[in-house]
Formats: sequence, C-alpha cells, structure tokens
Amino acid sequence: MLAPVLAFAQSPLDKEISEIREKVRFVPEQALAQLQQMEPAARAAPPLTRGEFLSQLALAWRSVGRHKTALSLTDELDAYAKSQNNPILQAKALLTRAYVLSAMGEQQTSHQLAFDAEKIAANTSDLPLRVQSTITSGQSYAEQGNYPVALTELQNAVDLAHQVKDDLVPLASALNALTLLYTQMKEYDKGWEVLNETIAVSERLQSPGRLAMAKSTEYGLAIDSNQNKRAMAALLTGLELVRKIGAKSMIASTLVNLSDISLKEHDFARALRYGNESIAAAREINNISVEATAYVNIGQAYMGLGRLAEGRKNFELGLAYYEKAGDKPELQSLLAEYGDALERAGDYAGAIAAYHRERKLSNEIFESQRKKAMWELQEKYDTEKKKRQIEMLSHENQAKSAEIANRRLQQRVWWLLAVVFALASVIVGLLYRKVRHANAQLQVKNLELKQQSALDPLTALYNRRHFQEYMRSQNHLERRHPSGEDIVGALFLLDVDHFKHVNDTYGHAAGDAVLKMIADNLRVALRETDMIVRWGGEEFLAFLPAIPRAGVDEIARRILTSISSQPIEFQGHTIHVNVSVGFAPFPLAPDNTPLPWERAVNLVDMALYLAKAHGRNRAYGVHGFSKFEQTSMEDIEQDLERAWRAGFVDLSVVLGNSPDGTPPNNVVPLKSKSGN
Ligand code: GH3
Ligand code: MG
Ligand code: MG
Repeated sequence: MLAPVLAFAQSPLDKEISEIREKVRFVPEQALAQLQQMEPAARAAPPLTRGEFLSQLALAWRSVGRHKTALSLTDELDAYAKSQNNPILQAKALLTRAYVLSAMGEQQTSHQLAFDAEKIAANTSDLPLRVQSTITSGQSYAEQGNYPVALTELQNAVDLAHQVKDDLVPLASALNALTLLYTQMKEYDKGWEVLNETIAVSERLQSPGRLAMAKSTEYGLAIDSNQNKRAMAALLTGLELVRKIGAKSMIASTLVNLSDISLKEHDFARALRYGNESIAAAREINNISVEATAYVNIGQAYMGLGRLAEGRKNFELGLAYYEKAGDKPELQSLLAEYGDALERAGDYAGAIAAYHRERKLSNEIFESQRKKAMWELQEKYDTEKKKRQIEMLSHENQAKSAEIANRRLQQRVWWLLAVVFALASVIVGLLYRKVRHANAQLQVKNLELKQQSALDPLTALYNRRHFQEYMRSQNHLERRHPSGEDIVGALFLLDVDHFKHVNDTYGHAAGDAVLKMIADNLRVALRETDMIVRWGGEEFLAFLPAIPRAGVDEIARRILTSISSQPIEFQGHTIHVNVSVGFAPFPLAPDNTPLPWERAVNLVDMALYLAKAHGRNRAYGVHGFSKFEQTSMEDIEQDLERAWRAGFVDLSVVLGNSPDGTPPNNVVPLKSKSGN
C-alpha cells in the first residue's frame, strides 16, 4: 500500500472526527456515542487520525465528568505519541491532558502542560493545533494573573488563526478567548471591539454552539461593565441557541446566569423561576456546581420575596455544597452575601450568625494562608538550607580534591627528590670511588716520588738529603743490650781510591758500573736495617744503628774486603777497585755530651782522609777521646792526626786485602804516641 501523499489529506474518518470536535464541546453525550461507534475503525486508522480520535474521546469523557476515563485515554495517547515519535501527536497529548487536569482542578500542572504543548506544536506545520495550543497557553497565563503575556499569546493566536484556511473555528475560538481576557483586564472598549469580531466570525460559521459561546462571553462583558439589560439579552439569545442544539451543560449555566441577573435586577420571582429551571438542567447532567449556585440564587430569591424560611433553607443547601467541596473562598463570599440577604430580610440574628460564620471562615482561611505562607517560607528556607549544605559540601569536596591533588604533588616531589637523591648518591659514590682510587694512586705515586726523591738514581741507595732528614728526626742515644753488651751505632764513610783513573781508563760508564757494584756489595755486606747512602760522586756513607761496640772494626774490614774482592767485568775489562774508609761509633760523646751527627760525620771524614793519606785501601776508626779537658773538639777537628799523636783521640786502623788478594794482618790498633 502506498503511503498517503499529503500528510493532512482528509479521509472520511478525519472529516467525521473533525465534525464531532464541536459536538464534544457543546453536546458531549452525543459526541461520545458517535465516537464509541467509530472506535474500531479510528483505532486502526493512520497515526494522526488515531491520535485525534483518542484526544476527542478523552475530552468527551471529561465533558461528561468521567475524569478518570479521560485521564487513562490521555495516558494512552501520550504513549502512542511517544511510540510514533510524532510532535503533532505529542503536543496533542499534552494539550488533552491539560484540559482533563484543569477540569480536575489541577490548574498548576495543567498550565505547565499547556506551555509545553505550545512549544512542541510551534515546531509543527499543524496550524490549527498551534492556534489551539497558543490559546490554551494564553488562558493559562491569564489564570496565573499574568495578563501582559496572556495578551501577547492570545493576539498571537488570533494572528495565527487568520492564516488557517477553510476553517473559522480556530479564529472564533481565539477571538472569544481574547474578549474574555479583555473583560478580565477590564479593558471593556477593546472587549466590545473584539466581541463584535467574535460574533461576526461565529455567525459566518453558522454554528449555534459558537454563537452561544459568543453570547455567553457578551453576557460576562455586559455584566462587568454594568450593562444588565444587554447581559440579559445576550443570555436569552444564548439560551435559545443552546436549547436548539441541546447543549445541556450550557443550558444549565445559562439558566443559572439568568437567575443571577434577575436577582441583580431585584426580579425575585424571575430569579426563582430560572433558579428552579437551572436546578433541573444541572441535575440532568449531574452538574452539582451549577445546582449549588442555583440553590443559593433560589434562597436569595425567596428571601427577596420575603419567604425567609424557604430562603434560608435553599441558601443553606447551596452553602452545604461549597462546604462539602471545601471551597472556602467561595463559601466565605457566599456567607457574606447570605448575611446581607438576611439583614435585608430583617433577620438580624441570622445575619449576625452568617456574619460570625463568615468571620470564622475568614480567620480559618487567613490562618491556613498564614500556615501556607509559613510552609512556603519553611520550604524555601529548607531548600536554601539544602542548597547551602550542597554548596558547603561542594566546597568541602573541592578543598578535599585540592588537598588530595596537593598530597599527590607532594608525593611526586618526594619521589622525584628520592630519585634525584639516589642518582646523586650513585654519582657521588662513583665519583668518591674514583677519587679514592685516584687518591690511592696518588699515595702510591707520592710514596714512589718520595722514595725516588730519597734515592740515588744510579745506585738506588739513599741520597745525602734523605740521610740528613733521617738523622735530624732521630734521637740517638747509647743503648745497652739486655745481655750487658755495649751496643752502639756506627758511621762509615767510604771513598773510592783512584776513581778518576777508572773513569779515565775505561770511561765514565765503567765508573758508573763500578759505583753500582760497590752499592750492591755494601747491601750484601751490611744488614737491611743499616742505612747505606750515596754521599757524593764516589763517596758512600753507611749508618749502622745497632752493633756491638767491639764489632765496629770488624765491619770496617768487611766493607773493605767486600769491595776489593769483587772485580768488575766491564766490556772485556776486569776492573779492580778498593776503597778507603773513615769510621766511628755513633753517637760520640767526648765529654759525656754527644756530638751532633754533622760533627760526627766530619770527624769520620777526617779519619777517611787519614786512611787516604796513609796508603788507601784501609779504614781509620775514631773510638774515643782521652784527656778531653786539655783540648777542644775544634782543635781535634782541625787536625785529627796531631790530636791522635797528642793522645787525645783513640784511633784504630783496618787494612784492606793486599793487591794479590791475601788479607792483611789483623786490625792494627793505632796508639797515640803519648799513649805508647
Ligand atoms: P783518590 O784515591 O784520592 O780519591 O783519587 P780519586 O781519583 O778518587 O780522586 P777524586 O776523589 O778527586 O776523584 C773523584 C772522581 O770521581 C772525580 C769524578 O770525575 C769521578 N766521579 C765522581 N762521581 C762520579 C760518577 O758518578 N761516575 C763516574 N764515572 N765518575 C764519577
Ligand atoms: Mg772523592
Ligand atoms: Mg776517590
């Protein structure tokens, strides 16, 4: 099947429903019957048809007072609109519900639904729906007392309705609503102006219902602008019209309005007649609201006619309805009217009683209003308190979040610091190891350097400077061995005999070799603890820290022999060398005062000189001093030989091997001449 080409193309069913729309408004009982008849077909119709049907069915039930049925139908329409995802249906559903809820007295929700419906409808191309939703929205604003917005809305509705082709109902409806608003706003001139338009359009519509509506509007405008005659005329014309179409609800309300205006005109008999007629009409449609008003009017009519008891009875019947309905404001104003009527009828006690009831009710209303205001205040306060609490919590939350973020940042900083510290530690550790290694190397190097600076490069013996440092640092005292042996230190100074000759004969290198050989031999002949020093070019010094005094000469011999007995093989030449030695125990103490080491070495040097002078290859030793008081150290140092000959010095001489290698006779103790 092909889908309909035109969205709003009217099917016969649509036309039928469209005609029923007006009946729903004026003669809902008839409309209901017709709608129920077409229900199976309408429910199977395309969405827009089906939606419109559901809406009208709900409104028909509403008009006959079956609110619950009406409400369940709006639920159905709402669900269907949502399932179809169709804004026209959605707006229609909201609007239908707004009308049902309004009839149920739930004005606030009804207003909101009307506003929502208007918004959704505004985005559709369904112009009549837009007019209708705009009218309803405007009426809602008017009910809220917001006349400026209501006026804008209804003027808008009229403008929109002018754009609707082929149908004057929307325009009639919009104009009628605008007239009612002007009446409410007491803008009577404008009201009359628009009313004329309303009536004109309604006449063009040739709809008795629409014209009756316009007449009812005219009645309101006339009454409010104190034109009772015109009001009466409008009502009578209207009554004729609604009776013609059998609009029972409108008949009942027109009749009650007629009784009302008759009371105003003090035509109590006519008021009584219309009152009774309206009660009958209201009962027919079960409209107790109209019935109650009718009773009040009848009561007033009776009282006007001087039939007080009947008047009071009917008035009370009417009041009972409002009491039962709990409509306190209406009850209050009726009680005030009741009091006035009783007073006029001369029932002052009744008037006072009515007045007291009115006051009591007024107090109740005031109290409940006060309570309501209190509740509203309390609610507002609670809401604000909650808002403040939420704000506080939110602030607290923000503070907590900031704190957590801060803590995280701190932790991160700590981690970073830890990492940096660890890295720094590793680097420092590495550097430290490197430095330590370098230091150790430096220490080794220093030690080497120190040794090197202490050693003679050619012979690897200590050099003269090292010996000097050593001697300065020592505290040389004579020591006695535990066995009682006389242990002394000793100094030996050697000079190679005729060394120049070696250099001259075999070359300087040969001389160096000889010097090395002498060093090696001295190391062998002496102990490791003895200090052997290269004293000068071909001069050597040996310091023996601890030897028996009696063994000093023997060591001198060993020195002489160790060198002379060891020929040097150098480039095919065999070189024989011997040395001359001067020696002395150390320390020497001529007058129990030890000589400084320099003077001791000087003395030994003088002994060496004696050895050279007396034939070389021999050792001369200073052993002690005699009669020291008769001489001085200076004199001895000036000429050792003379001091010896004078008997001030004890000397010994040790001879080296003879050139053939045979040892000389033993040590020759040299006695001073004076000593002999
Ligand atoms: P004397 O027996 O009197 O000591 O005679 P001498 O030849 O040893 O005389 P002198 O002490 O005057 O000569 C020492 C020479 O030793 C002078 C110098 O050329 C030489 N000499 C000094 N030091 C060295 C050295 O390191 N190597 C060599 N080859 N010769 C040196
Ligand atoms: Mg020399
Ligand atoms: Mg020499």
